[in-house]
Parts: sequence; C-alpha cells; structure tokens
Amino acid sequence: MASERRQARIKGVVQGVGFRPFVYRLATSLGLAGWVQNGAAGVLLEVEGPADRLERFFARLRTEAPPAAGIEATSVTAVAPRGETAFTIRPSDRNEPVEPTLPPDLATCEECLAEVRDGAARRHAYPFTNCTRCGPRYSILERLPYDRPHTTMKSFAMCADCAAEYRTPGDRRFHAQPIACPRCGPRLTLADGGGRPQVSGPDALAAAVRAVEAGEIVALKGLGGFQLLVDATDSAAVLRLRARKRRPAKPFAVLFPSLERARTHLELSAAEAAALASPEAPILLVLKRGDGGVAAAVAPDNPRLGVMLPYTPLHALLADALDRPLVCTSGNLSGEPMCIDDAEVIERLGGVVDRILTHDRPIVRPVDDSVARVDGADVVLLRRARGHAPRTIRLPVALPRVLAVGGHLKAAIALGLGDRVLLSQHLGDLDGPEGLEVFDRSVADLMAFLDFKPEAVASDLHPDYASTRRAHELAARYGVPHIAIQHHHAHVAAAAAEHGLTRPLLGLAWDGTGYGPDGTIWGGEALAVEGGRVERVSHLLPFPLPGGERAVEEPRRSALGLLSVLDPDRAAHEAGRWFAPAERDVLLRMIARGVNAPLTSSMGRLFDAVAALLGLGARCSFESEAAMALEFAAEHAAEDGAYPLPLGPDRPAVADWRPLAAAVLADRDRGVAPARIAARFHNALADHAVAVARSAGLEDVALTGGCFQNRTLALGARARLEAAGFRVYTHCRVPTNDGGLALGQVWAAGHRLA
Ligand code: ZN
Ligand code: ZN
Ligand code: FE
Repeated sequence: MASERRQARIKGVVQGVGFRPFVYRLATSLGLAGWVQNGAAGVLLEVEGPADRLERFFARLRTEAPPAAGIEATSVTAVAPRGETAFTIRPSDRNEPVEPTLPPDLATCEECLAEVRDGAARRHAYPFTNCTRCGPRYSILERLPYDRPHTTMKSFAMCADCAAEYRTPGDRRFHAQPIACPRCGPRLTLADGGGRPQVSGPDALAAAVRAVEAGEIVALKGLGGFQLLVDATDSAAVLRLRARKRRPAKPFAVLFPSLERARTHLELSAAEAAALASPEAPILLVLKRGDGGVAAAVAPDNPRLGVMLPYTPLHALLADALDRPLVCTSGNLSGEPMCIDDAEVIERLGGVVDRILTHDRPIVRPVDDSVARVDGADVVLLRRARGHAPRTIRLPVALPRVLAVGGHLKAAIALGLGDRVLLSQHLGDLDGPEGLEVFDRSVADLMAFLDFKPEAVASDLHPDYASTRRAHELAARYGVPHIAIQHHHAHVAAAAAEHGLTRPLLGLAWDGTGYGPDGTIWGGEALAVEGGRVERVSHLLPFPLPGGERAVEEPRRSALGLLSVLDPDRAAHEAGRWFAPAERDVLLRMIARGVNAPLTSSMGRLFDAVAALLGLGARCSFESEAAMALEFAAEHAAEDGAYPLPLGPDRPAVADWRPLAAAVLADRDRGVAPARIAARFHNALADHAVAVARSAGLEDVALTGGCFQNRTLALGARARLEAAGFRVYTHCRVPTNDGGLALGQVWAAGHRLA
C-alpha cells in the first residue's frame, strides 16, 4: 500500500502531560514515520505510512492519550509524503511563538505507583518517583519555560540511569523534568516537633508510620505544602488535633490507601470513583456509609466525608504501610496558606505537631488540595487548586489584558490573556500577613512567568479589602485604570465567563457578604448582566445585623436582626433563647438606633437566621456551619411544601421574607420537625428563583455565590427553573464561592474596557 502523509495540529492541554512520548510510542508501534513537536497552543505532528495505519493512529491518539491530557481540537491535513523511515521528537521550533504552558501538579500515575510497589524495581519504595504523566510541576516551578534548571530539582544531578531515561524518546521519563531515583533524587528526613532531625532516608518513612500508629500528629511535606496526618480511626488522636489546631468542628479530609478501601467506607458512584482516581485527585465530598471505622470526630454531624486517594508515592507508601484511613488536612492555621518549608512549620505549627516528615526538594509556592463534589456527571470544584491551577479557561471572545485581584476570603487572582483567563490556585484568606505575602508573590510570579503587562487592574468594590488596596497600587504602578467591579456582578460574570455566555444573563448571586454601592451589605441579589453592564433586578428585604461582621460567627445575631423587622416584641422575647438579658438589650438598642447595625440583603444571613430560629446553631466555629446544618436537615426530608416569599412590583423588586419567617416560627412552635421546616425553606428559595427569573424575562439563568455550595439548594433551584423552561448555568470548573470572583472581574472589567 502506498504511503500517505498527514500534518496535524492538536490543541488543548497537551504540554507537560507526557503527550510527546505517547505520540512517539504510538507512531513507532504502528510503524509510522514522521515527527512531533511542541508548538503554539499545543502540539504539531506529521505522520507517514499506509492510510489504514494512519487512520488507526488518529483514532488511538484520542482514546489512548495520557489521562491528564485534554484534547480540545485536532486539525488534520494531507501533505506530500517524504519517504521518511523514522519517527522523531523534535525540539520546539524557535520561530514559532510557543504559548507559555504552566503545567499543574499531577497525581502519581498507575505505572509509577506499580513501580514503587514492585520489590524488584529500581524505584521500589522511592517516595519521589514520577514521569512525564505525573508528579510535581507548578509547585516546584521557578521560571518558564518548564525545564529542570527552572525547577527546584535543579540542585539534584541526575545519575546515569535517570539521564539515560530522560534522553530516550518513547521512554515514559523522556524529558520528565523532575525525574529522580533513590540514587540521585530527594531524600526523606523525620524530625521531632521542634525540627531536630532524628532519622533520614527510607528509615524515616518507617519511623513516621510508627509515630502515626502511636497516635501522634505528623506534619507531612506533601506536594504543594505541609499537611497534618493522624490516624482517622483513633478518636483521641483526632480530638488532640482538633484541640491543638483550635478547630473544634470543621470537617477534616481523609486519605484512603486505595479506591477499594474507600468503597468499604463510602457510597461511591462511578463518576465519583473516576474523579478520585483522576490525575487531578481532588478531595471529594462523598456520602458516608455507616462510620466505617472513621472516628465521628473527623466530620461531626456531617452526612459527607472529604475523601482523597494517595496522589504522590509518599502518600501511597504511608497509606500502604498504615493500611487504614488517615486524617490528612492542610498544614496551616485557619484561613492561612499552607506552610511550605520546615522553618514555617516550626514557627507556625510548632505547638501542633509531634513529628515532621520532610525532604530536601523545596516547594516554591503553596498549592493546596482541590476540593470538589460530583453532581450527576459533573465534577463541581469548590476549591480550585492542585491539579487544576493554573490551567486557563477559554473565553468566547478576546478581551483586553486585565489583572484581577479577586476578593478577600478564598482569594485567587486572574490574568486575562486575550481569549483565555489564567486563574491562580486558591490562596487562602487575606486577613493575616501570611495570606497577603502569598497573594503578593502570586501576582509577581504569574506576571513574570507570562511577561504580563496589564491594560487595567480589576478588584472588588469594597474599599477596605486588602486586595482592593493592592489593585489601586498596582494600577498606579503600571499607569493603567483601576476598575472596581461590584461583588455580585463579578459572581455573575464568572458564570458568564465559565460558560462562554455573551447574551444578557440573569444571575442569582446568593452569598454571605458583598459590598453594595448603596452602603448596605448585599448578598441576596438578582442581577441582569451583559458583559460590563449590570442591573439590579431584585434583592431580599434588608434587615439589620447587630455588630456587623460578627454576625458571620453568630447566626443568633442574624436571627435577632430578622425578628426586629418582623416583630420587635417577638425579637425581645425570642432573644432570651440566645442572649443574656444585658447583652440582648445592648443589641436591641444598637438595632433601634441604627448604630453598628448595618442593613443587609444577604441570603447567607437569612440561612443563618433560620438555622438559629430552629436551634441548629446559634454560634459557628467555622464559616457557614449553621447554614450547613440547615442544608443537612433538609437534604433527605420528603417534603414538597414551600413557604411564601413574595416578590414586590418595583424594579429592583424586593423579596419579602417576612411571611416566610412568620411561617417558620409558626411551624416550629407547632412542633413541626426541623427537617421538614428546613426543606420547606429550601423549596421556598427554589420557587423564588423561578419567580425572579419570570419577572426578569431572560432565558439564561446563572446560579452563583457561596450559597450554591449548598447542594440541596443548587439542585432544587436548577430543577424548578428548568421545569419552568429556563436554561440554567451553575459553576463546575470555577468555585461558586469567592474563589471565582477574579474570573468574573476579568470578564466584567475586560468588557468595560473593550
Ligand atoms: Zn508516572
Ligand atoms: Zn537517578
Ligand atoms: Fe461572594
């Protein structure tokens, strides 16, 4: 059969994932000649051989590509055969501008795991094994392009065996930048809680295993930062970790040795199992099945457990040896970034940990674990970090280059790169100096990596956010405009950007707190958004928050504020449930005089208030604890009823929650079960979503903001809106919480500029 030749350009995530060695092996196994090379926005290749084998090549290219590869488009053209006989991996074409690729960290692939577990393999039990398909990337990257001298592997000289693998086209480790082995790569050390080294090398792992078995708290230097490990089956150890971390109730994530072991404890759908085993390997929130031996203190009063599988050989070796579920939580204090070096652990977590299992491969930047859940077939990201960041999100239009600094909590920044947006990893909260330092470093790093010159700097409208002040300074430094985007506008714009919606869109932006241009705290908003334009369609009837922001930790304050609008006498009476008389009187006076009692239209605070009215949490030890209790109460109640939440005739229309609150109290006082009341409340909000959508007259409806982390609310509102004929968009690849704001800021500010 005569030879034919094809040229193909493959776009998508095809760099830094082992794609070229894969193409090499595929082509040579089919006896095809030609070449492959990295090029602009993807990979360029030519293959030559009989037509039937070329056909098989392109079919298998899609079906057998490395798991982390995401092929978005393949364009194939026929070219004249050249009579070549060999297949080669070509160096990048220097004349073709190569789009910078910032590869994310990828979970250890099956082949590397098998090697680590193979007693005869050269890398048996070696915790830093990796290949072109897996291993550290972004967390060890100092500069672009992504080559070994530009990573923290630069100080490790490859041994002859590793160098041979690195140079062999078709080897799984061909140009695997972090390639390493026991002879030439990083080494473990176990230190005590004060950082004094005790044992190094393979014995360090065994000593760490014994420490966990003894109930100790071990700080583990993982992929993108330190984590804290304890035996998840040991209640006393878990409670000790809670006491030392001063984290009384917020759920911990659990590392299982394998998917099979996880299944014995958890209800896993096929989609959930696939997500857990994916190269992104997030912490996945899944339904518990009994307690499965995991101590109740790991995720108290929560129907779900945050679960993950080993995503480095180090995690796999520890989990194998311990053969039990392990609490594996970020090595930080609440809201702070993860510690990335020993000195930070000793300084910030010295009183928390008993041992430190560390190594000599430096981490450049904290990259926390991603957190997700599966809704149907969709993987919904709630925290976008390891495995996902800093991948880009494609836009339907090209926009000016905007640097967006995000919000204040769950901070993330974004860079508008024309028709794509690079969204950084989750950076934590910006309350403390540690968070701000990581924030500043991320801005500097990403701008340097991409040689980014902003045409504008976008921020939230809140004048007191640290990120807003930084935006102001950055705009002045670059001599470009500073564009402030209202918080909920940014939430809706993030949905537009994620789903590529250029048509006018109704966004239901329901969350805790966002600065409103009228001086009140927004958060129960319906906004009509088209690019940079926004109109407030409706909002919740405002109510006062005595003590302002303190209401976030004390849902009882929201309840008091709500009742003061509904019925002041009732407020004074009910307050006795939650406050001592003197405190109650102070708060009621604050409300009556309007002093330190800002008005809010926040949906998050409405959730808090209803939770407190039902006795589901007057105070929170972590963000939205009470609202979550309300969600869990509603989750499995078979209840179709809904409370009234009428929408007024004005524009913006006011959603009057007073009939709803009155009905909640009446049901409660009649002894109706809290689960039933919680369900009627959720149903009321789903119905309300339809009423608002009808009044706005737009076909596309986005559900966005932190409240839609609530699965019952998100699925309920979606179902009722779709039944009413609306097209509904919820976030998947970008968090619905403030972690998505920066993407929306790029979209809104970019449109305003354009
Ligand atoms: Zn691998
Ligand atoms: Zn080596
Ligand atoms: Fe928000």
